Amino acid sequence: MTSLPTTSSATKLGLVIDLDICVGCHACAVNCKEWNAGGHSAPMTDWNPYSGTESHEGDDAGAWGVWFNRVHTFEVGEAEASRTVHFPRSCLHCEEPACVTVCPTGASYKREEDGIVLVNPDTCIGCKLCSWACPYGAREYDHTDGVMKKCTLCVDKIYNENLEEVDRVPACVSTCPAGARHFGDLGDPNSDVSVLVKERQGYDLMPEMGYKPTNKYLPPRPRRDQGGENDAPVSLAALAAQAQSEANPNTDGVGGALLRWVDSVLSR
Ligand code: SF4
Ligand code: SF4
Ligand code: SF4
Repeated sequence: MTSLPTTSSATKLGLVIDLDICVGCHACAVNCKEWNAGGHSAPMTDWNPYSGTESHEGDDAGAWGVWFNRVHTFEVGEAEASRTVHFPRSCLHCEEPACVTVCPTGASYKREEDGIVLVNPDTCIGCKLCSWACPYGAREYDHTDGVMKKCTLCVDKIYNENLEEVDRVPACVSTCPAGARHFGDLGDPNSDVSVLVKERQGYDLMPEMGYKPTNKYLPPRPRRDQGGENDAPVSLAALAAQAQSEANPNTDGVGGALLRWVDSVLSR
């Protein structure tokens, strides 16, 4: 078991992702892979990168590899009422991360100074307990190196004094052509990201899990052609419940529906 820092850091660095703006282009995922192919967690390996018939662990895996950021796209609703939601997923740098406390070696840890959750590859034994503990599927096992890897919040970029200050932001943020990704201190209520979250009613992913994710998602705005201009932002939970009830009319409440829906969209 690994302990969390005894004092919660005042600085909580994280991402704010705007689901209303994201166009699902995968530029963030690709630039994440590009940046992190070197540096802190390098290399980020691939198997069978050009696909074909090669198998991995007995399965025909096709092209596969380690990605710290993956973008899932799904359709909710029917006909004119339908909408497409693109959902980028990476580590949420939770305040109460079970992926840390479950680690038997101390390899998985949370930094006291800024809240970033990292893995020390020198002490990771590849037991995968942390990937079972993470409800967001944010851990990526590297079969080549035999260790667990994950989003580092580009710790080797955001503090890199060899870069211009304007470039000291995560690779996924600097590359997003739509401006859907924001980086900053969510522990400071007056920071740009905190103000944005407040204004747009940003929320935690699966808050009922109790992990207190630092990253926030900004919900899709209501569609104007459906008279929703002045309505409250569309709740991800409501979208999830809608999607789930369409798939299974006998479903239970929103919480259960959301869990199963997130589970299904996060499965690879
Ligand atoms: S780069 Fe921006 S718009 Fe493209 S998938 Fe990522 S968050 Fe969405
Ligand atoms: S895979 Fe590595 S980081 Fe994860 S719990 Fe096991 S030792 Fe810790
Ligand atoms: S913060 Fe860095 S490591 Fe994390 S998803 Fe973005 S680019 Fe990848």
